[in-house]
Amino acid sequence: MTDLLIENGWIVDGTGAPRYRGRVAVTGGRIEAVGESTPAGGAETLDADGLVVAPGFIDIHTHSELALLADPQMPFKVRQGVTTEVLGNCGFSAAPLANPSADLFRELCVPVFGHAELDWDWDSLAGYQARLERGGMALNAASLVGHGALRAAVMGFERRAPTEGELKAMCRMVAEAMDAGALGLSTGLIYPPGCYAETAELVALSEVSGRHGGIYATHLRDQSDRLLEAVQEAIAIGQGGGLPVQISHHKCAGAANRGKVRESLALLDGAKTGGVQPGSDMYPYLAGSSTLVSLFPPWAVEGGVEALLARLAEPEPRARICREFESGLPGWENRVKVAGWENIYVSSVVTDANRSLVGRQLREIAQDRGQPPEQAVCDLLLAEGGRVGYIGYNSSEADLETVLRHPRTSIGSDGLDVGERPHPRLYGTFPRVLGEYVRRRGILTLEEAVHKMTGLTAAQAGLKEVGLLQPGYRADLVLFDPETVEDRATFEVPRQFPAGIPHVFVGGTAVVRHERLTGNLPGQVLRRGGGAQA
Ligand SMILES: [Zn+2]
Repeated sequence: MTDLLIENGWIVDGTGAPRYRGRVAVTGGRIEAVGESTPAGGAETLDADGLVVAPGFIDIHTHSELALLADPQMPFKVRQGVTTEVLGNCGFSAAPLANPSADLFRELCVPVFGHAELDWDWDSLAGYQARLERGGMALNAASLVGHGALRAAVMGFERRAPTEGELKAMCRMVAEAMDAGALGLSTGLIYPPGCYAETAELVALSEVSGRHGGIYATHLRDQSDRLLEAVQEAIAIGQGGGLPVQISHHKCAGAANRGKVRESLALLDGAKTGGVQPGSDMYPYLAGSSTLVSLFPPWAVEGGVEALLARLAEPEPRARICREFESGLPGWENRVKVAGWENIYVSSVVTDANRSLVGRQLREIAQDRGQPPEQAVCDLLLAEGGRVGYIGYNSSEADLETVLRHPRTSIGSDGLDVGERPHPRLYGTFPRVLGEYVRRRGILTLEEAVHKMTGLTAAQAGLKEVGLLQPGYRADLVLFDPETVEDRATFEVPRQFPAGIPHVFVGGTAVVRHERLTGNLPGQVLRRGGGAQA
């Protein structure tokens, strides 16, 4: 018998097909029927008059590993209509962890994962998944295995190629994560220690992911002057490893590089890896956000964040770092130079002494201190023990719209639950696409936008039984008002929930009713190829 019947809504089924009026029947946590003639007389009936009924949104690009533990209700995601989080992006994943470098890796992750107060009481992906399952969560979570974590576990933060034995050990760890249900391998080729890898290492690791049916998702080695070379490297890795490629937060930074995304998308259109054309994801904002450590030259972070801080405390290496912010280094994406100090803002610190700097530009902070910006940034990082987050403006609206329109671009927030003023994408990504880019600007149709948040995403991530309104699929559903849905999170006041998304269901259980959290925790760990373990 039917548990829930949603009536009179506009069905947008996640495939991109035009909407129609109809009903969705749910039973046993699954979609029982969709369409105009479905069984009547459910135990509970919900009138969705004026609302769109769509598959719950899948956030393909998250860093919520610790946020899920800190608050399993995940308010900033479920209030957007997100019902599945894809963790483990950009080379950052909760596992594998191995001593002696586990602490080094956790330290690097603080401005990305937040929640430095939490214990990491696991060492494998399976262990982390078990921890999630013990605590429960409002939405589903799946994970990639991060190359940064792998490298840290096997090689620490050493700046060199792996030995044959080390490469084998990393391959074994990829296989172990894939056996635990990882969706594939992720890299973050601007972050230590992943940035120390050359292409051959990444092909070898990708090959293991591909053999298990996984993907390769990458934060490219360069998203500015050498974007095209970086996309070519990703394609080469996908071809060498024989697996699908996902370009993370596809964009191009720097005024000199405006328009280049047309060429990078054309490279994707002209390629096939693992039998499919490479795809991308993106968030609908002109600024990015990350750890300030990632702005430093790779050699300076060899050995980890502590080693960087030691170098900043010594006159000679510090002087070299400051020089290189100006002059650059061959092969290094110098994002400070690309963006300019005036476009980089402090988004999180850990000491009260520097709290007033949050939300302020680095160039202004330096002026106040009577210092050159590169000296001011070194001092700030030292004072904060390396735990500083930043927001950097880097893209153009034209490029953003070009990537958004591309048929294989899905939506991923890249949200970071860190501090009082996180990037607003944490709260606003999905409603912003629907309100700003669908309703106001008409860049996408509503059906296209929903497809990029659901059906396309599931296909790219290799997730089964989510992302479409189809009988037998998980009853992960979002009901929103297409006339009023919009983001309210701003760079000034980012921790604000969106409007126009009254109801959200995960596995047929309400997690949001009338824009209020229900407190239910029906989410499950999703594993590659389907099947949550009951
Ligand atoms: Zn990234």
